[in-house]
Amino acid sequence: AERGVRADWNGVGATADGHEVKVVANVGSPADAQTAVDAGAQGVGLFRTEFSYLAADDEPDVPTQRAAYADVLRPFAGRPVVVRTLDAGADKPLSFLDMGVEPNPALGVRGVRVAFDRPEVLDRQLEAIAGAEADSGAEVSVMAPMVATAAEAAWFAERVRAAGLRRAGVMIEVPAAALSAREVLDAVDFVSIGTNDLAQYVFAADRMAGALATLNDPWQPALLRLIAQVGRAGAELGKPVGVCGEAAADPALGGVLAGLGVTSLSMVPAAVPAVGAALAAHPIDAFRRAAEAALATADPAAAREAARAALA
Ligand code: PEP
Ligand code: MG
Repeated sequence: AERGVRADWNGVGATADGHEVKVVANVGSPADAQTAVDAGAQGVGLFRTEFSYLAADDEPDVPTQRAAYADVLRPFAGRPVVVRTLDAGADKPLSFLDMGVEPNPALGVRGVRVAFDRPEVLDRQLEAIAGAEADSGAEVSVMAPMVATAAEAAWFAERVRAAGLRRAGVMIEVPAAALSAREVLDAVDFVSIGTNDLAQYVFAADRMAGALATLNDPWQPALLRLIAQVGRAGAELGKPVGVCGEAAADPALGGVLAGLGVTSLSMVPAAVPAVGAALAAHPIDAFRRAAEAALATADPAAAREAARAALA
């Protein structure tokens, strides 16, 4: 077994009856990538590229970006890695992108919205990502943050393909995108649900506000219902639906998400072995029943208990 993989998990993401659910990691640096490999991650479901930019006073040039990305991708040669394009805005300000002062930064020009104003910044990043794919041998997909509509998803996918990259996807973290999952999925190759922001926008509750943590609980049935809608659209269209928010790191929730139609779980590297082992503990039909039971509740505590009871 690889280092870090638990004795009760064989390192292949699947339920007890062999239904595949990829167990992959969220990373932001070369050190994270190595930690993820050591933990047994099958790939990367979210590479947050903004960390390479946040320290810089000016936009890093294409060769600098290419080298920085290749350092993160190299440990995953031959494996799938989802690279997320720059997720910045007024709350994560970048000195070279002056977006102005916004009264509601979480609702402002952030994520892919920055690229609508400054497409050349996106195109340079895509050129660097394509170069890093060639340098590293990782199987790269590219996805955009904060997409709200199918038209935005199509705009992004076209630029990704124009850059010579093969797989384009978007995050589902704006409620409108979840409600349009079928149309969004039609425009791209895959989606990945960002439960941190999706919960924040569904509950109108700042994800950083400790006092609102109960609203941002990933077991909230209203959030699970939106995830189920995206999962159904993915199954109908035969396209992958990942989860890359904190929800994916909860071993008790991982199987429930699979039962809702999620096909990959991406998490902090330390959670990989426990989530992998929890997925392997029951067949997919049991997780589907647990998901149905959780969906039929009215609050997070009841959802947790209903899923636990369904699997007992
Ligand atoms: C999310 O919003 O769930 C997500 C994975 O992205 P981030 O936490 O970087 O906003
Ligand atoms: Mg997000």
